[in-house]
Amino acid sequence: MVAERLEGRVVSDAIATRVSERIASLPIAPNLVFVRVGEDPASVSYVRSKSRLAQRVGLRTRTLVLAADTDQGTLEHTIRELNRDDDVDGILVQLPLPAPLDEAPVLVLIDPDKDVDGFHPINVGKLWSGLDGLVPCTPLGILAILDHYGVPLEGARVTVVGRSNLVGKPVAALCLRRHATVTLAHSRTRDLGASVRAADIVIAAVGRAGLVGADMVRPGATVIDVGVSRVDGRIVGDVAPEVWDVAARVTPMPGGTGLVTVAMVIQNTLRAARRRRGWA
Ligand code: NAP
Repeated sequence: MVAERLEGRVVSDAIATRVSERIASLPIAPNLVFVRVGEDPASVSYVRSKSRLAQRVGLRTRTLVLAADTDQGTLEHTIRELNRDDDVDGILVQLPLPAPLDEAPVLVLIDPDKDVDGFHPINVGKLWSGLDGLVPCTPLGILAILDHYGVPLEGARVTVVGRSNLVGKPVAALCLRRHATVTLAHSRTRDLGASVRAADIVIAAVGRAGLVGADMVRPGATVIDVGVSRVDGRIVGDVAPEVWDVAARVTPMPGGTGLVTVAMVIQNTLRAARRRRGWA
């Protein structure tokens, strides 16, 4: 058996079409501002791809580029200004910030209603409380992939490997919200294989090439690969290639979750604008 490929591009295109149709019907295009500090090549490339998609779907967007040696006070002043600007609907500070800048105070400063990354503690609290807030993009994208390909969550056993604030914890919260039974595994989990083998849906968000092997996956499971590693110059995921012979469905890496993460930034911006501006 070779697993079905859960194509990120297909899901991302469907989201982009939906968002652009909605934007075309609005009185004014929502406005998304990226804040990038320094010239880290990965950050430059991530912001570029998000910004390109934002333009493609008709959002207004601009990128504020601050020098790598920007001090904490200047960065925080920039965020306050964007918070105050009533014409800005979404603020996305590209992480990681260069040392010695401290991320936590910056993320807390972003107006929770403009927090399209969904990292503000108010949005985190809303997610775990079942309230309506902005949710981080990679976890939202994972759910969008499962929904697009008709993988049911209700009653499913989901094992998430990785417990970061960025991916593991919020995707666990989303799955729980959708009535899955969730195991959240991490580096201290005893017998990781047993936890993964018990799952109908495996979400691997670690960043260790091939951590999830074929012997760890239940035949017929759905496997979502989030981890990104570079091996011999190639991008690979947490999921070993042999898993494709065991699982029913797998997201490719690259070509899976990353593309949908980008699409969720534009969906979140539309959502933030609708909530802020009182559009239905
Ligand atoms: P992170 O903050 O480094 O978290 C990694 C998690 O993996 C931690 O919870 C860690 O456990 C756990 N872990 C480490 N080694 C493990 C092991 N041997 N067995 C089980 N768990 C282990 O990383 P992150 O920000 O969540 O990102 C995870 C990966 O996803 C990275 O490769 C990142 O580049 C990628 N990513 C991809 C996308 C996408 O769109 N595809 C988006 C964001 C991130 P402890 O908590 O115990 O240390």
